Amino acid sequence: MSETFKAVLVSRDEDKTQSVAVTELTEADLMEGDVTVAVEATTVNYKDGLAITGKSPVVRHWPMVPGIDLAGTVTRSSDARYAEGDKVLLNGWGVGETHWGGYAGMARLSGDWLIPLPDGLTPQQAMGVGTAGYTAMLSVMTLERHGLTPDRGPAIVTGANGGVGTVAICLLSHLGWEVAASTGRPEEAGFLTGLGASEIIERSELSEPGRPLGKERWAAGIDSVGSHTLANVLAQTRRWGAVAACGLAQGHDLPATVMPFILRGVALLGVDSVMAPRELRTEAWRRIADELDMAKLDALTTTVDFDDIIDTARAIIDGKIRGRVVVDMQR
Ligand code: NDP
Repeated sequence: MSETFKAVLVSRDEDKTQSVAVTELTEADLMEGDVTVAVEATTVNYKDGLAITGKSPVVRHWPMVPGIDLAGTVTRSSDARYAEGDKVLLNGWGVGETHWGGYAGMARLSGDWLIPLPDGLTPQQAMGVGTAGYTAMLSVMTLERHGLTPDRGPAIVTGANGGVGTVAICLLSHLGWEVAASTGRPEEAGFLTGLGASEIIERSELSEPGRPLGKERWAAGIDSVGSHTLANVLAQTRRWGAVAACGLAQGHDLPATVMPFILRGVALLGVDSVMAPRELRTEAWRRIADELDMAKLDALTTTVDFDDIIDTARAIIDGKIRGRVVVDMQR
């Protein structure tokens, strides 16, 4: 009889009512793919919270093993690029949405979606970074491609205590940026300054409807919040500055005007981690391994067991998670 492993399974009944449970699967249950991976670590991102709670329709194949990120060891491969024993990493590509993902002891995937685990990172550290941290790096790279450098003025990070926000603060401050952190949890100010923020801005200062143009404050921004927050960040961005928009924790609307774009040359730059091309993600992960301070990553990471995934997913949607969560499958 084949060995079983634990999995989180999200199902839907005939009335389209969603439920979630921990179950046992075997390798034979897994979806098609050319590389099989023993999952050593995974994580809980905001999108995983949406999948498990059903708050937004991110799951598009039923039943679904969620988990948009995983790191582990190849156990079987018909893809010439991967052999048994290789350490690999996966983020996005619709895994955990249309293809079974990281919340299981084993995963079967397309080799096109994998990248080798970067040198210097353990599977647990890679999941400490996860899609949230890799998106923070993609956002930094997007701002750099726009020609922005720290001498242009400060950068703002919204959703500062979240996964994207905490890693963005670490990366920007490492690169020499002065970082303003916008948060609804000012009691975490000490934590955020420890990561590299030099100014704390109350969330409410940016999250309410504001004016089309405000005082010019920051040269660059990384926004994981959307809605009025993004509109206000744009309205307060300095001439020829830019904002990387990667999230929607407040909302997916953008109640803004064109004024910052046409009167100040401000740019709004989109960031999509899910379908980012392989070269870009490989570069982002190489830079994460080289540039992210592992002591700070450790400070912003909480490690949980497999059985904690469902509760953690609910907590992230309620805005109760600080930083990043690693699910260590070997605990
Ligand atoms: P987290 O839940 O870890 O962080 C989100 C943070 O946003 C919270 O910690 C909180 O920060 C802030 N926040 C929460 N609710 C609100 C609200 N109503 N109004 C204003 N701020 C709020 O999520 P992640 O960091 O993992 O993801 C952040 C966003 O980025 C999500 O929308 C996610 O879907 C998106 N994302 C997009 C990706 C892409 O490819 N474009 C990839 C990864 C993530 P604080 O308490 O400090 O205020």
